[in-house]
Amino acid sequence: MLPVLLGVLLSLAVSVLSLGSPSYRLELDLHPADALWKLEGKAIIAGHAPADLGALVFRFYQGYNAPFTVISARDAEGALPIYPVDAATFGVSLPLSRGQTFSVTLEYAAEIPPFPGGGYGTLSATEDVILVAQGYPFLLPWDEERGSWILEPVLSWGDQVVAEAADYSVTIRHPDGWEVVATGEERARGSGATEVRGQNLREFAFVLIKNYTPASRKENDVEIRSWYPRGLPRAGGEALELCVEALSLYEKLFGEYPFPELDAVAVPLNRAAGVEFPGLILAGIEYYRRYEAGRRELIFPMIFAHEVAHQWWYAQVGNDQVREPWVDEALATYTSGLAMAEWGLYGELRAHWERTYELGRSRNPDATPFDPLWRFPEGEGYGGIVYSGGALFFLELEEAMGKERLLSALRRYLKDYRWKLATGDDLLSILREEGGEAAEGVIRDWRGAVP
Ligand SMILES: [Zn+2]
Repeated sequence: MLPVLLGVLLSLAVSVLSLGSPSYRLELDLHPADALWKLEGKAIIAGHAPADLGALVFRFYQGYNAPFTVISARDAEGALPIYPVDAATFGVSLPLSRGQTFSVTLEYAAEIPPFPGGGYGTLSATEDVILVAQGYPFLLPWDEERGSWILEPVLSWGDQVVAEAADYSVTIRHPDGWEVVATGEERARGSGATEVRGQNLREFAFVLIKNYTPASRKENDVEIRSWYPRGLPRAGGEALELCVEALSLYEKLFGEYPFPELDAVAVPLNRAAGVEFPGLILAGIEYYRRYEAGRRELIFPMIFAHEVAHQWWYAQVGNDQVREPWVDEALATYTSGLAMAEWGLYGELRAHWERTYELGRSRNPDATPFDPLWRFPEGEGYGGIVYSGGALFFLELEEAMGKERLLSALRRYLKDYRWKLATGDDLLSILREEGGEAAEGVIRDWRGAVP
């Protein structure tokens, strides 16, 4: 996610080893009902038990923003008991031994509220856009070392999803006249139904859009599309250019973009300038409007530089975004600086990072860039400290160990943790090993007494 810029610039655990990743077969039926949209869903979730278990635990990440109801759970042998864990988390009783395969079918229903709903507005409906992020139950990841499910508190700021990469096969049924843009590859199956498939997706999300136009380009076998509504052709075209350029730069620096497509869609968002999903970027439509009106603000290229960077840091290397949001956010922000530098915006960006870091620290003086999300109540100081401060930490590492060594350490981090969940310690260990004493000094300075 990229937070809305702070006032100053507005004018301008342990790696989770899995026994094979889970797979999701989703059938989602969407239809308008009065002011709301209704979602009726069936999720068939299959995988291997990560330990000897009495139950599987699932979470509706948007269940804190909108009502989700589980109607039934069953496997091949019949109905399974469901029990609540918290407001949006539930267990399905099913005794399994470690490594045993399972396939559980969950039927559920949800209401999609009018925009903004809760959070960033990523489960909400407007006249021309229905956003459906996390519109299904996620199997929680298993923490091998602690011997428990990873169940973090759900907060009203920051990104919440902690998930293993998985294969998805999805059928979305929707009224005629709407188009689906999703993580994965979309195939219209006649009017009113769209099939989507994706491999190694950290999560599945889509938008239904009406009266949008795509601008697209094929680059190194990746289909890159920018979707925008009428009246925003210059901003929509610029969004495409920025995505193409950021994607090819990051491919050169870190390695191949792993999906066949990248879609960027202009949508209404609440309290976020952009939000990342695997192969899908949702970008705040108000920034397109301001660009179209001739305003040239730092934030517009920042959105795409940042969210494309998440295709490496989040989509490929996952992390616990609640406990250690810096692991992907600081890295995505630092990486975005490499693209911004290519566009001649490095000086302005660095000044922005310094200013917003100071501002964040003045608002939340006890927090550090390495803190969990819950140390930033209501998001106070979060963007300034974790994103800008975190990026300055990586810049100092770059100065201390040399850019080439830092980039090579990041390539190793990608290779070692691709499609897994990495921890801050995993990342710091590689930085220490590759950067030696120079890196160690910077880490010690920034982390203070933290071991
Ligand atoms: Zn982000």
